[in-house]
Amino acid sequence: MLLATDLDGTFLAGDPENRLKLYRLIVAHPEIDLVFVTGRGLESVLPLLSDPTIPQPDYIICDVGCTVVNGHSQQAIQPLQGEIDDLWPGEQMIEDVLQSFDGLQRQEVPQERRVSYFCSSDVVTDEMIARVEALSCNVLFSGGKYLDILPRGVNKGRTLSRLVEHLDVDPESVLVSGDTLNDLSMYEYGFKGVCVGESESALLQATEQKARVLHADATGCGGILEAFEHFGYLGHLGIEAEAPDAMNSGKSDLVIVYHRLPYEEVVENGELIRRRPKSPNGIIPTLLSFFADGKAGSWVAWSIDDPELGPFQTHTEVDTDRYEQLVAARVPLSKDDVDIFYKRFSKEAFWPTLHTFWERATFRDDHWQVFLKVNKRFAERTAEEAAENAVVWIHDYNLWMVPAYLREMRPDLTIAFFHHTYFPSADVFNVLPWRREIVGSLLQCDHIGFHIPRQAENFVDVARGVTPLEVTEKAGCAPRFLTYGCAVGLDEMSTEIKVNDRKIGLGAHPVGLDLNRVRQALTQQSVIDRMETLREELMDVRLILSVERLDFTKGIIEKLDAYERMLNEHPELETKVTLMMVCVPAAAGMTIYEELLSQIEQTVGRINGQFAQVGWTPVQFFFRALPFEELVSYYTMADVMWITPLRDGLNLVAKEYIATQGLTNGSGRLVLSEFAGAAAELRGAILANPHHPQDLADTCYYALAMSRSEAQNRLSEAFEVVSRYDIDYWGREFIDTAEQRRAIKLGKILPIGHCAA
Ligand code: UDP
Repeated sequence: MLLATDLDGTFLAGDPENRLKLYRLIVAHPEIDLVFVTGRGLESVLPLLSDPTIPQPDYIICDVGCTVVNGHSQQAIQPLQGEIDDLWPGEQMIEDVLQSFDGLQRQEVPQERRVSYFCSSDVVTDEMIARVEALSCNVLFSGGKYLDILPRGVNKGRTLSRLVEHLDVDPESVLVSGDTLNDLSMYEYGFKGVCVGESESALLQATEQKARVLHADATGCGGILEAFEHFGYLGHLGIEAEAPDAMNSGKSDLVIVYHRLPYEEVVENGELIRRRPKSPNGIIPTLLSFFADGKAGSWVAWSIDDPELGPFQTHTEVDTDRYEQLVAARVPLSKDDVDIFYKRFSKEAFWPTLHTFWERATFRDDHWQVFLKVNKRFAERTAEEAAENAVVWIHDYNLWMVPAYLREMRPDLTIAFFHHTYFPSADVFNVLPWRREIVGSLLQCDHIGFHIPRQAENFVDVARGVTPLEVTEKAGCAPRFLTYGCAVGLDEMSTEIKVNDRKIGLGAHPVGLDLNRVRQALTQQSVIDRMETLREELMDVRLILSVERLDFTKGIIEKLDAYERMLNEHPELETKVTLMMVCVPAAAGMTIYEELLSQIEQTVGRINGQFAQVGWTPVQFFFRALPFEELVSYYTMADVMWITPLRDGLNLVAKEYIATQGLTNGSGRLVLSEFAGAAAELRGAILANPHHPQDLADTCYYALAMSRSEAQNRLSEAFEVVSRYDIDYWGREFIDTAEQRRAIKLGKILPIGHCAA
């Protein structure tokens, strides 16, 4: 069958339960062709296409019949569109003719091949009609205020009937639905039709005598469902009237959806063994701590499905002593899927774009399909695990599409999402070919968290380009965050937005540190010994430390160039400073990084070749990951920590340095890029612009030259931030916010199986 339906008041209206039922029914039956027939302009239909809860149309007839496009490609259906275009004299001609008529106000909505105004009925005179008809156009006046000037003979019904002919669809299989006089033309071509409940009385009168038009009782989608029943589509097509049962809910009140399992899996003697992660950063233990009180929970993550290791185990324990009721719910992925989803696509397409290096990104549709498949599996597993009205916390851009799938399966859930990576503004983000789908998915969340206000506001900027939205709450960013003091500062951020009656909370939650991890490292004998050795080795040489992964976002070459500049400008520093550069290799097979490594090696060679003296190496380059304890000894000994990424979501190394120096009563100086998220938080740091070579060199020199007392004052300011907003604060604040959104939702929520949209 072909369902041709008006949108506002019809397909987008009705009882939430009926909407969900109809939408599910259409999705479950791809043999139903769906045609949106609307007075909206195409641009105003696009936001619906990014809403994963609304079925995607096969065709779109918009602009009251003047535009007809394929729903998937949004390209014109020819020759139908050409026929309409031939009739249209152009907007300018109409405006020129109508300018002599008073009382017309142009509608400020997207419109093509038609001109739409607001006016009162007395403005629509015979003279106006005659003048318009002389331009081979028609006047359509409806609702007592809407005036549309359309190409002659064009309306919703005619374009629909041309489309039906063009597609060679049996007219008997067509059902039209609408609710206002604007839809009348659809009922005039002999199709079966339904005027949904509470339709405009003029439409009801005009269709009263039509035997094939049902006047339904239920509004919106409910009326369409009545028509399905009435015209026998259900039995004829074998379509079930009942929506598929709402999915069985699971037992977990909190579900963490993270790409990594909370334990390490290693294969030993052909067997899969689980063990506690050797050196976890604070995130996994913090997330685990939510289950320490016996709360029933699941941790959804992928694991390789390797037939050689025997049948795949979906559920495993995590640590029954500590987290009695927590299970790991594993999503089986093949090695190929992991390779594409995780190692390649996420890193090659999304990572560069998110960090504003979009020109380095490659976009492959086949990889996007794998990404969707994997995200769907995560969503299915989550839907099975979550108890009714549970909170689900999804992590990072690898899982961007999970909310879209999950919301459809489980409208009852409170979905919270934390974005661990930088989030750029629309100018950059919109480069992503799948931006509508991604934003549509994120807008299914109840709360979305970012590290800093700038990233949250960038999201609003991006979302506004995809769908109409209203900012319903704002908050000042100071004093917690810098306002005008750094490149990623902001004075005010949106904390709640409204999209299609759904409210979405936004928050700035910078990830914090586990200070105990640093404390413990500092008490280890090996760390104390290494500090001693370093003290002896360094003697009078001041240590500038740089620690980062091998990545083009980290600004490593720029930093080395600045170091060279500083040595050239300040020859007195020769033999007095050394730059220790720790660079962590990227995962094997990432060719994108090979070139960068060789550039770094060349630059290091150039600097050492130029400045080295017997007994003094200006740059010491370590190309390996160091154990955390070893890093802590370097943090303790470094006079200057030099962290200057070109762009960074947050930067934990900066915080680790501050924590180490603070805990050891040091006077270390942190020089930090004003493009790292942490810059918006760590007052006391010396901020540098890594895109400005002179500033980069100057700020490092400034840090070296800074008095001990100023350094200590700055450090104590930053240490206060790091100590107060630690990793527990981060986890607690986020989960409390998610709980609040859940409470708001439950205050008005319908029982499970009802659509909250
Ligand atoms: N790290 C490490 N060994 C090293 C270098 C770094 O364990 O040799 C750790 C470091 O302690 C920090 C993390 O890697 O916790 C890097 O996090 P950050 O946020 O600074 O950078 P990202 O890699 O997330 O961009």
